[in-house]
Amino acid sequence: MSARVLYRFTRDLRLEDHAGLAQAAAIGEVVPVLVIDRLLEARLSRSPRRAAFFCGAVASLDGALRERGARLLVRRGTPSSVLKNIARACGATGVAWSAAYDGEGAHSNERLQSDLEEAGLRATIVHDAPVIPPEETAAVRAGGGSGYRAFSPYFDVWRTCEVASYEAPLLLRFASTDLQSEPLPQPHDFGAPERMGESGGTAARETLDRFLAESAMQYSVAVNVPSDDRTSHLSGHLSFGTISPRTVVRATRARMDDPFLLTEERASLRLFLRSIAMRDFFLQLGYFHPEVDEKPLQERMGRFSFARSHRALDAWRAGNTGYPLVDAGIRQLRETGWMHPHVRPVVASFLCFDLGVDWRVGRDEWDRFLVEDDPAIASGNWQWIAGVGADLVQFPRIYNPEKQRRRYDPTGAYVKRWVKELAHVPAGALRASSESIDEQLTLPLFSRDSYPRPVVDHETSAREFLARYRAYVEAQ
Ligand SMILES: Cc1cc2nc3c(=O)[nH]c(=O)nc-3n(C[C@H](O)[C@H](O)[C@H](O)COP(=O)(O)OP(=O)(O)OC[C@H]3O[C@@H](n4cnc5c(N)ncnc54)[C@H](O)[C@@H]3O)c2cc1C
Repeated sequence: MSARVLYRFTRDLRLEDHAGLAQAAAIGEVVPVLVIDRLLEARLSRSPRRAAFFCGAVASLDGALRERGARLLVRRGTPSSVLKNIARACGATGVAWSAAYDGEGAHSNERLQSDLEEAGLRATIVHDAPVIPPEETAAVRAGGGSGYRAFSPYFDVWRTCEVASYEAPLLLRFASTDLQSEPLPQPHDFGAPERMGESGGTAARETLDRFLAESAMQYSVAVNVPSDDRTSHLSGHLSFGTISPRTVVRATRARMDDPFLLTEERASLRLFLRSIAMRDFFLQLGYFHPEVDEKPLQERMGRFSFARSHRALDAWRAGNTGYPLVDAGIRQLRETGWMHPHVRPVVASFLCFDLGVDWRVGRDEWDRFLVEDDPAIASGNWQWIAGVGADLVQFPRIYNPEKQRRRYDPTGAYVKRWVKELAHVPAGALRASSESIDEQLTLPLFSRDSYPRPVVDHETSAREFLARYRAYVEAQ
């Protein structure tokens, strides 16, 4: 019998262009395993759409394995004992899996690795989630051991790194075993009502191909216009690894090779690659600074006090702040599990600055609805917005939700779509917080129903916050 190795799937639910599987295949025949432990169960139970997406992706992975004469071995329990038992039962000498980039995931991986090694198994952790492994970009810098804290220098390096391909690992062979699998996970195991659409590798590839063929050329517009739905919508797929980010980069670069592209189209593709690089940036930040899950990356901001609550916090949670763009974003998230990339910073900024509420409160609230399961990316972005994380300019950027709405949703198409009370309000009357809006909106013609007045005055609260922030920073 040739050497056998277990491959434990985590957030890498596909067979193509797979760094982890390629590494496992180089050791021996692969036994594909999925362990549903308490950590995974907790992450999935938090967001029903996430659970549904995950279950669809697992079913699709199992289908792909069956087409190759194998199948996914599902077990529920503690990874260490589950993996040791399976290894013993099928004669595997090692276990491989892909790295986590958040503190909790990284710590549990460390424990698992030493448990397995103590039991005499070779335990290999592989970078599969980023395009470029964190050590590779870090190595370019002198003293790069803790990676990059600012995106611009990171991106300068990232774009020069070579993108590895694991497209067709020649040695990939799956072992046939007579071990019994537990049933595949189902959405109701996590309190989720049903599957949502197609979420496996085929759906991911179709999403990418459609994006590159139809929308990518207008990305630089779409990413800034909330009513424009033509961003890639790949975040859920990248999060669960139903597509490799390396495949995304290679396909985008191939599209850029088209000599007939217009300058703006090429610029759009470049901007899209920059977005993918931002994902890598936050993954490397979580990798080198696992404490950012809970603590600000900027140590000096550790004692700056954000509130844990505010009288308008529930209104923010429900999308009832009286600021149409903020409310539309929150309602889009609650209804679909996704929020447009241009709206996310505006909604997050409103929580942190207008309400002065801690970024962790916002991150945890969104975690209840997002399909994406990216603790490191979520914390990195929230810290960034709150002005306590990466790339800090002198003062945090406080978005004016009304200016943003006027500029990026001038016809109200986005706001009207998600805030039903405003669906029939003329675009010119969509303003928050002015006298005229109240006069306008009392007219039954506009059927505003119960859309609330603004919960705070943006100008006043933003000014107060900035003064407090400035005083704190200057006292440091
Ligand atoms: C407060 C806040 C929280 C966020 N939380 C998450 C999160 O939990 N998970 C997540 O994937 N993204 C998060 N983002 C980043 C971004 O908003 C989403 O990736 C994007 O909206 C997903 O839509 P898309 O796939 O159509 O993105 P596109 O615009 O098509 O971008 C393509 C891909 O690039 C990556 N990307 C784009 N922007 C960023 C970014 N700022 N940071 C990291 N990766 C990025 C994503 O993988 C995305 O799928 C957050 C942004 C903010 C401001």
